[in-house]
Amino acid sequence: MVKDLESIFGSDVFNKKVMKALLSDDVYKRLEKTIDEKKELDNDIADIVAKAMKDWAISKGATHFTHWFQPLTGITAEKHDGFINRDGDESAIAEFSGKELIKGEPDASSFPSGGLRSTFEARGYTAWDPTSFAFVKGNTLFIPTAFCSFTGEALDKKTPLLKSISAINKQATRVVKLLGVNAKSVTPMVGPEQEYFLVDKEVFKKRKDLMLCGRTLFGAPAPKGQQLDDHYFGIIKPRVQAFMEELNETLWKLGVPAKTEHNEVAPAQHELAPIYESCNIATDHNQLTMEIMKKVADKHNLVCLLAEKPFARVNGSGKHNNWSIVTDTGVNLLSPGHTAEEHLRFYLFLTAIIKAVDDYQDLIRISVATASNDLRLGANEAPPAIVSIYLGEELSSSLLAVSEESCKSDPEKKVLDLGVASIPTFAKDSTDRNRTSPFAFTGNKFELRMLGSSNSIAGANIMLNSAVASVLKEFADVLEKDNSHDSIIKLINKEVSAHKRILFNGNGYGDEWIVEAEKRGLLNLKTTPDCLPYVIKDKNVKMLTEIGTFTKSEIYSRYNIHFENYCESVLLEARTMVEMSNEGYLPAISKISADMAETILKKKQAVSSLPCDYEMKILKELSEVLDDSKALTDKLIKLMGEARIDDVAAKATFIKDKIIPVMSELRSKIDEAERISPEKEWPYPSYGKLMFSED
Ligand code: ADP
Ligand code: MG
Repeated sequence: MVKDLESIFGSDVFNKKVMKALLSDDVYKRLEKTIDEKKELDNDIADIVAKAMKDWAISKGATHFTHWFQPLTGITAEKHDGFINRDGDESAIAEFSGKELIKGEPDASSFPSGGLRSTFEARGYTAWDPTSFAFVKGNTLFIPTAFCSFTGEALDKKTPLLKSISAINKQATRVVKLLGVNAKSVTPMVGPEQEYFLVDKEVFKKRKDLMLCGRTLFGAPAPKGQQLDDHYFGIIKPRVQAFMEELNETLWKLGVPAKTEHNEVAPAQHELAPIYESCNIATDHNQLTMEIMKKVADKHNLVCLLAEKPFARVNGSGKHNNWSIVTDTGVNLLSPGHTAEEHLRFYLFLTAIIKAVDDYQDLIRISVATASNDLRLGANEAPPAIVSIYLGEELSSSLLAVSEESCKSDPEKKVLDLGVASIPTFAKDSTDRNRTSPFAFTGNKFELRMLGSSNSIAGANIMLNSAVASVLKEFADVLEKDNSHDSIIKLINKEVSAHKRILFNGNGYGDEWIVEAEKRGLLNLKTTPDCLPYVIKDKNVKMLTEIGTFTKSEIYSRYNIHFENYCESVLLEARTMVEMSNEGYLPAISKISADMAETILKKKQAVSSLPCDYEMKILKELSEVLDDSKALTDKLIKLMGEARIDDVAAKATFIKDKIIPVMSELRSKIDEAERISPEKEWPYPSYGKLMFSED
């Protein structure tokens, strides 16, 4: 049962409240300054902070500590060390120094580096990120850290994320100051809505594909799918309810503000949304949420599936990244506001985002690209692979009116007076209806809906923050020369006219949009291998390096790793298919057809003139499927051999063009056989068993 929320929330976190209680006023103030101003911790107080942290952690049952980091695998990594130290020959004491708090040196050689680090330079180091609080989980104190090579290149997702946050802070602060807003800093805020599936553990264990790849590679549709739409917001089943309660309580203790939970569209699909937090913390918390979901599910004999597309022909899972930028004085720069000045500010920031998303649509697409997300994007259940912005009719028409009017305006009156152009107050409902848009304005935030459920949200936010920061930099450069009302409006007009092609309020799932988007010159990068080469385009390398998020070599390393991840994940699936086919499906189909042949023989023996049309038909179909499937399985094996290609981009393209189509063909053959075979003879549990197993 959930205990008193207020007393448990954050109870396992070394947060400011705890720091204040445990540290002297002077030390606390210096630590708080470090956190608030994102500075480095002074060495002379590091030992004091470390000791307080250790004593607190031990009082919570911790015996170990770990630097917790986010390597380029997309998940988190940890290496546990005991607090223990020798004190003479026969005794030991609990120790944890400031040095150990601030810096760790895990062996970096087994983490992906994409060529950044040669194996002889295996060392990497982790550095404490004091802006994300340490916490106790199990018997261990977790210290959020960044992870770099010894030469200083980022080997993780947190470092570039922090750099992108700092870039947007710097540039947005410049812009708001020019608008007369008194703010010291601007922070991106993020609320990620997380979708997932739950299946029964026993059923799960019988599916090799789920166990190895996180998704089914075979499986005919269940007679009852999601057609009735009776799962969405439906009654939550008792076992799932118990899971959600424990999940919430665990997350709350860790300071994760889990708030909303409900059933999703597909059977066995659910969603959890936290209250939004600063981008850095939200990213750490989303990683924790995914990890805790898996752990808690296990305790309830369930398995939490975070893969984007666990079941074919059933809605997959995504993650909506709600994003806004807010000043330290609490002004949300994406809030339309009430006064003429606030409207103007809102329009300016809106324009910056429109330009950023248009100019860097390729980077946004890349930031959500994985082999499994390719199965969702553009599949009539998730936004298309084409990036566009939804503003809603009201907001788009007032924004476009401003820019179009100015184009045909008389030379005397070059700009419109935006102060009098009325901006409607947006009812949230009117902007939130279109679920088919990849990037939708929803009242006072944008919602990037292209992320896959298993994606780290770091990537998407890195690109979004960086792109918007780079445009705000351009804007600040212009406005620092002239920040008059007219100059601001001129800038809005110019940029909206130049980038309005990215605005689209229609049905993003429709085929007409694909044609229309092409006419507009928008990119439609359908798969991961299609989009990845764009990251190293000059304009992207220039933007990302100038704004300070990545060095050129970091971009190339990520380009390599991204391709490698794609290849490895598809090849693992191909290998798993071959195994399941050879060990499970082919022998089963052969046996079912042999049984059928025997039935025919018996019937004929009994009465030679008996018709056997049904049996003959099934026997023929199964025999054909069997031979075809065997041929496809062998073809897959041969193609996997041919996929040993050195160039990662060429390898990924080979996999996409040659291997994936054969995988689909093999799947459809086997699924065909499943439809006409008795369930009890089938070697792996059916979709029906999997999707209705959580009761
Ligand atoms: P839904 O999208 O289901 O209608 P909401 O819009 O209420 O749900 O919220 C979705 C997510 O957006 C939540 O995580 C919420 O905390 C977050 N959110 C709300 N306002 C903001 C904001 N200004 N900036 C970033 N995230 C926000
Ligand atoms: Mg939403």
